Amino acid sequence: MEQHDEVFMSFLISKSAFIKAEQCIKHFFLYKNHPYLRDSISRDKQFIFKRGTDVGIYAQQLFPGGMDVTEGEKRDQELFAQKTKQLIEQGVKTIYEATFIYDDLLVMVDILHLHEGEWKAYEVKSSLKITDTYVKDACFQYYVIKNCLPNLVDFSLLTLNPKYLKEENIEIDKLFKTTSILKDAINNNDYFSHKIALAKLSLEQNKIPDIKIGTHCFQPYECDFLGSCWKNIKEPNSVLMLGKLTKQAMFDLYDQGIRQIDDIDLNYVQHKEVKIQVKAVIEQKEQLFKDEIKQFMSAIKLPVCSLDIEVWQPAIPYYTGTRPFQQIPFLFSMIHEEQGKINQYSYFKPIEEDLRKEFLERILFMTKDFQTILMFDKSLEETVLNQLAELYPEYKHDIMQLKHKIIDLAEPIKKGNYYHPAMQGNFTLKSLAPLVNQESGFNDLDIQSGISAMYIYESLLEKNAIEAEQIKQQLIDYCEMDALITYQLMTFFNHKLD
Ligand code: SF4
Repeated sequence: MEQHDEVFMSFLISKSAFIKAEQCIKHFFLYKNHPYLRDSISRDKQFIFKRGTDVGIYAQQLFPGGMDVTEGEKRDQELFAQKTKQLIEQGVKTIYEATFIYDDLLVMVDILHLHEGEWKAYEVKSSLKITDTYVKDACFQYYVIKNCLPNLVDFSLLTLNPKYLKEENIEIDKLFKTTSILKDAINNNDYFSHKIALAKLSLEQNKIPDIKIGTHCFQPYECDFLGSCWKNIKEPNSVLMLGKLTKQAMFDLYDQGIRQIDDIDLNYVQHKEVKIQVKAVIEQKEQLFKDEIKQFMSAIKLPVCSLDIEVWQPAIPYYTGTRPFQQIPFLFSMIHEEQGKINQYSYFKPIEEDLRKEFLERILFMTKDFQTILMFDKSLEETVLNQLAELYPEYKHDIMQLKHKIIDLAEPIKKGNYYHPAMQGNFTLKSLAPLVNQESGFNDLDIQSGISAMYIYESLLEKNAIEAEQIKQQLIDYCEMDALITYQLMTFFNHKLD
């Protein structure tokens, strides 16, 4: 289960702390000794953690009737470890959140199960795939548990099965895939003792390690201390704020002593998307490739509308006939203009019912009279439309017609045909919003991202009618704002061509 399993200031080294030591020893040191410097956790990250916890609890049904060591207790891992020991001695066969401490290392594992006299451990991941980082985490857990519980014979990761198709009821054993990492764990035993010794040594030295920033600040996860380490670097003209460059390429410049964007020699910049950013900073003005924009805009035929779709991707499939993480469209907003007046329309699908057919019929009906449908980054919308065409083949022709009318306004931006220094290396709709509509108020919305929209929609399953109505409005406001800015981007480009 992906969760925060750390007690700050504790002398114990948890799995979370160990991962940080692997990433950067300074990250580990700050995490253990200066947690108050840690960045606040974004709303999107909080949602992702919650999903991990929820999927972990759901997976307990694979081994029903177990005892949860954390239930009814305050968050005290040493107490959890004592309780785990007691439950094992009492002959309890399934333990959730089983906790172990060995050599000052602390791990919790989602499920510990006794099978024919031998223990097997399972860690749940709310993911369709196993990553190297998951395997390394699991090997660390195995290392600690095996030293406490010699009778541990296997350690597996439980991930969601991408091929599982929900029928009326969830078949839990088919929903999850079990993958043993035992071989890796056995092969890595020595690695952990060595790495842990180094981590402990860094704590003993009682001095913040002198580590320079680099690509490691983002691998395998974005560091929690960027606000502290990067505070003098994240200024608009830093080369580390350039968009469309890999982190490695940015640090290649940075490490050569090229710290400011205007220090870059334009003769050495090959990519147009990078060149345009450098020029914009040097000249302190927008960069516009008028001919390219003109040609692009000539494809827009009237009448025109803009369209934005929001999707829900439940980890545990909710509707019959859907798979884990399948994209379920639940809201679309469209904007068009009539006699100089902006009109907006939104369709919201209630979460309780699978009304994807009604959703599709409504979108087809509402867009049928428009010659051009504007989007900003159409990839998600196209995926949704393709899935709906497969699901409802009787509408395939109409969906294809709709797709032919799409014009993606992200294209000229991505190709570097327009850039303003205020975009600060971002090529997103949000970075364009203040330029195309100074009163857009994107930042005043309750929902700020598609990820948040998705999780907030999911939260409707637990809300009463009054709360649900508020949430529905927040979601519509967010989606309408996306559609509005997309529409206004067209007007913005038209003015630039006047
Ligand atoms: S921001 Fe980078 S250098 Fe600083 S602690 Fe994090 S990973 Fe280490």
